[in-house]
Amino acid sequence: MLKNWDLTVVYKDWKEWDSSFDNVKQKVALYKNYQGKLSSFESFEDYYKFDEEVSKEIYKLAVYAHMQNDLNTKDEHNDSKYKQVMMLYSELVQASSFAMPEKISVGEEVINSFIAKSDKLKEYRFSLEDLFRTQEHILDQKSESILANFTELSGITGTLYSALANADKTSKFVTLSDGREVEVTSGNYRAFLMDLKSQEDRFIVFKAVFERYAENKNTFAAFYNTVAASDWANAKSRNYASSLESYLFNDNVPVDVYKTLINTTKENTETIKRYIELRKKALGIKDYHTYDRFLPLATSNKKYTYEEGLELFYKATEKIPGNFTELAKLALKEGHVDVYEQPGKRTGAYSTSIYGYNPFILLNYNDTLDNVFTVAHEAGHSIHTLLSSEHQPFATSNYTIFVAEIASTFNEHLLLDYLMEKSTDKQEKIVLLQQAIDDILGTFYRQSLFADFEYQAHTMLEQGQPITHDALSKIMVDLYTQYYGIDILTEEVKQFVWAYIPHMYYSPFYVYKYATSYAASLKIYQDVKSGDELALDKYFGLLKSGGSEYPVDQVIKAGVDLTTKEPFNAVVERLGSLVDQLEKLL
Ligand SMILES: [Zn+2]
Repeated sequence: MLKNWDLTVVYKDWKEWDSSFDNVKQKVALYKNYQGKLSSFESFEDYYKFDEEVSKEIYKLAVYAHMQNDLNTKDEHNDSKYKQVMMLYSELVQASSFAMPEKISVGEEVINSFIAKSDKLKEYRFSLEDLFRTQEHILDQKSESILANFTELSGITGTLYSALANADKTSKFVTLSDGREVEVTSGNYRAFLMDLKSQEDRFIVFKAVFERYAENKNTFAAFYNTVAASDWANAKSRNYASSLESYLFNDNVPVDVYKTLINTTKENTETIKRYIELRKKALGIKDYHTYDRFLPLATSNKKYTYEEGLELFYKATEKIPGNFTELAKLALKEGHVDVYEQPGKRTGAYSTSIYGYNPFILLNYNDTLDNVFTVAHEAGHSIHTLLSSEHQPFATSNYTIFVAEIASTFNEHLLLDYLMEKSTDKQEKIVLLQQAIDDILGTFYRQSLFADFEYQAHTMLEQGQPITHDALSKIMVDLYTQYYGIDILTEEVKQFVWAYIPHMYYSPFYVYKYATSYAASLKIYQDVKSGDELALDKYFGLLKSGGSEYPVDQVIKAGVDLTTKEPFNAVVERLGSLVDQLEKLL
């Protein structure tokens, strides 16, 4: 079995890539021929055909170079190729920048009449509608150009955050209770927390990582203040009622979805506290702390070769009627999965695609149970891509992050249920249950908690209250008490966890999507599992719909209404049932 990517299906070699590159480069120069002509139907339609052709080819160039680069990040040739295509992309953006304002000045009514006459333009109906939807928050040209100056400025906060949080991140050496001196980094500290038997040692390791946030609390708070203040300035300038509203506008997500998520989650934390009690008893811990959360309740040293992992996953997919297993096999087709670690290869895992090609998956498989779940997860993304590109034209084939994690976590639920059913080993069952529970706590509850934090901190600023490190820590202290019943003030440095989450500095109001996706996928999975054939059709409908509608509408059609409490309550119930099972086993 071939366990590397065969990228020759995309380009025979770099020479072929080069000639495609030259071709795109020539075409980029032709954009100007359309300038000033978009008010005529023929030019308008032609422009879309031309732009689509160029876009398809430049994506292909970029994804290929990106994948080559990921296979060996130390190879300078690949790196320079990737940079080369990114520069061409900037040229393309520049060359086509006249189009958006010109389309707007042509006006919605005229454009609708164009759409009615053209099959190609019908494919772009959704994106054109969306263009006019956003108009309500776009200002006149002069104001836009003033705002653009400040956008650049507000982006600097992310750079500053990253400089302080990462660039001078040095490892720390700490001495454990047995006299061992170990090097702790933010990359390895979790492994220590899973492994160290003494709570005191776990505290030492945890503190080594979080201390820097405590030491720089004033600076981190000042950064966060800048993030929230520039978000609010932008929201006010563009006529939004709040920063939250301005961020949700892009995906057309109602503010109520966000508020329902954080409120429903916060009101339903009894099961987390019950789980913590169980852990305390099983692990013999008197005072439970956040740095105890990685300790395993059981260990299983079982290894799964890649072939065995695939077999397990395929068996799990057989629970779904129709051609789901076939799709799974297509997603994991030979030559489309790069399986093992290699020197220089990018870490982690992902699924990526080029329109018209079978998607590709990158793994760093090393025979653990976790890796088998990663296979299922990435195969979910690829199945989504397969269905979306089969049923959508290029224009609407790209789906949003908001729906992306539904297909991946759906597969994880499927695999977990299969393994639970099949397993006769008590230890293995405990491992699986803990994995499932911790997954809900990490993906759903923890992200809701951070989403809640972002909302509270931004609201505070919008109401004119100052953002200080004390104020930010207080929000976190309260949330941790509400969620986990843990007073993080007793952990010395944990209250500064708001400085530890890079997403809150780079992309505010983003992490809630993990929680909403998780809730949607669980609800869909439960509906499908109950044998409801309509539910399966609806799920496939969601995957096939790609990016042709707004995500909340897509999810409603799949049977999940995120504007209600129902899907979030379903997660709460699922957690309850898993904790019940765990309690019995322990
Ligand atoms: Zn994913």
